[in-house]
This record gives sequence, structure tokens and C-alpha cells, in this order.
Amino acid sequence: EPVQVTELVGEALDRCRQSASNKQITLASGGTENLHVWGNRGQLAAALGNLVENAVNYSPARTRVGIAGRRIAAPGGDLVEIAVTDQGIGISAADKERIFERFYRVDPARSRDTGGTGLGLAIVKHVAASHGGEVTVWSAEGQGSTFTLRLPEAGNAREKAESGREGRSGRREHRLSGA
Ligand code: ATP
Ligand code: MG
Repeated sequence: EPVQVTELVGEALDRCRQSASNKQITLASGGTENLHVWGNRGQLAAALGNLVENAVNYSPARTRVGIAGRRIAAPGGDLVEIAVTDQGIGISAADKERIFERFYRVDPARSRDTGGTGLGLAIVKHVAASHGGEVTVWSAEGQGSTFTLRLPEAGNAREKAESGREGRSGRREHRLSGA
């Protein structure tokens, strides 16, 4: 089914509103208007929710968590990029290699109070891949992190109707190379 990115972002933010306000973390979002991705709505919402939850969990009080959407032109069909940026503790280069593994947590002692199991990012990676997309991370220790979800764009209803008439299979079959 086509899923509105604005709705996904809204659900992800709702899920984190309480923990964010406890830490006086500002949640902001933008750029998601008229973006649609194709796939399982619940899975996509859970994936984005995990990224926002991490951003809040691994950030100090009185910082900002932003979610930004945008469309990227790509040869095989446009992509939707959803970037979650925090001003948190950041992730070292060595840990960046491993955080998407199941049960891997950086410094479990320090992050024990966040009560996680280390499955969140493994789920995000799985959901991204099963939707023909990918998740990547940029981070600088002590400065913050940006997790970026890239998914094939579903296109708007008119585009889909037209591609159907032309007998094309549509963009939902597009796969990112190397994902
Ligand atoms: P769970 O999500 O299962 O509750 P978790 O948050 O520990 O537990 P992941 O979401 O998979 O597990 O994240 C793995 C590890 O990556 C975290 O324990 C944390 O050390 C690190 N990490 C994830 N997101 C961030 C972030 N935004 N900033 C800093 N470190 C992060
Ligand atoms: Mg997590």
C-alpha cells in the first residue's frame, strides 16, 4: 500500500513525545509533504519510530531531534529520504560498523538505564532492505548522529494510474543497487 511519509513521521513523533518532553528535547519535522513510499505501513512506522526513539534516548537534555524528508532523483526511479538528526553522544567509527547487528549495544553499562535490547537498528535495517531501501548513519562523537532511511518513492496516485495504463510495473519494483 502507498504510505504517506507525513503520517509515518507523525506516528514516530507521537511515540516519542513523552520521553522527549521529559528531557526537554525539541522534536521538529519538515519536508515530508507529498512524499509517499510503498510498503507495509506498520513495519515502516516501527522502523522510523526506532530511529526517533534512539535519537531521544542517546541525547542529553535540552537538545533537538529533527526529522527531514526529501525526494532524490535517481536513475531507477525517485527515492524518498527520511533523515533523523540528533545532537547526542554520537557513535565512534568502530561502533558504526556494528550497531546494525542484533543485540549490539555501545557501552551497555552506560546505556543500561535506557533499557534496550539492541534489536532496534537490526529491525530498521531489515525493514529498509525488505522494502528495497537502505539505512545509513553519519555520526561524529560528541556532536550527534544522523540516521538516513532511503526508500523507493511510491509516486502519486495519478502517476501510478498512468504507469498502469502504459503497462509498466511501476516504481515499487525498483531496488537500490548495492543495498
Ligand atoms: P532497543 O532499540 O532494542 O531498545 P538499543 O537502542 O540499545 O535497544 P539499537 O536501537 O539497535 O538498540 O541501537 C544499538 C546501539 O547503537 C545502541 O545501544 C546505542 O549504543 C547506539 N545508538 C543507536 N542510535 C544512536 C544514536 N542516535 N546516538 C548514539 N548512539 C546510538
Ligand atoms: Mg534502540
